[in-house]
Amino acid sequence: MMIDARNLRKTYRLGGTEVHALDGVDVQIDDGEMVAITGPSGSGKSTLMQILGCLDSADSGTYHLAGEDVSTLSEDRLADVRNRRIGFVFQSFNLLSRMNAIENVELPLLYAGHAGAKDKAEAALKTVGLNERGHHHPNQLSGGQRQRVAIARALITDPAILLADEPTGNLDTKTGDEIMALFASLNDQGRTVIVVTHELDIARKCRRQILIRDGKVCE
Ligand code: ADP
Ligand code: MG
Repeated sequence: MMIDARNLRKTYRLGGTEVHALDGVDVQIDDGEMVAITGPSGSGKSTLMQILGCLDSADSGTYHLAGEDVSTLSEDRLADVRNRRIGFVFQSFNLLSRMNAIENVELPLLYAGHAGAKDKAEAALKTVGLNERGHHHPNQLSGGQRQRVAIARALITDPAILLADEPTGNLDTKTGDEIMALFASLNDQGRTVIVVTHELDIARKCRRQILIRDGKVCE
């Protein structure tokens, strides 16, 4: 199993009030699945994504990622696991405007001190159908093309899991569907894909949906 999370709880305290963002969540995802995590705004989707993506830890519960217990790791060790296993895609693309597409895609490898980053970046851009746009800067690309660059950047470290938070939120319907088709083809190639979305039409393009509501999974 790729992801095995049990009884996750996360409470935010703001002033005098407590918000139970996750209230005992179980999530199991097999290697090679394509799953949507869906539910209304405020239901706890992003909180869950941050924990599954090793960006944050739950207050309690257990989390095994590819067989490794990551629930009790220090922040540094958690960052290692994250960099090794997970590629992130966000609603707002998060590209650096000063850099062209190739340079944006290379970044995770440069941070990790790998050689041959440029060739790998060009190959990743080809995988997402953007081989002719490598020297364009983000402001010279459409929204859909920017998201493809972000997906290439997520792929460059060859992560087992792609984790996308509202990846179609800034795109029109047709472009959003094209991005979901790209995720489906990456999934066909064996990658585990998790898409967080409040849009049911997008969630339905995944082979399985996990619905969360008020910090709980509804079956
Ligand atoms: P979703 O992604 O489904 O919209 P979130 O996981 O972002 O939901 O939020 C779940 C709940 O936790 C919401 O009530 C939200 O207001 C609250 N919350 C999220 N992040 C924080 C935070 N850093 N501090 C305080 N409350 C938060
Ligand atoms: Mg969210």
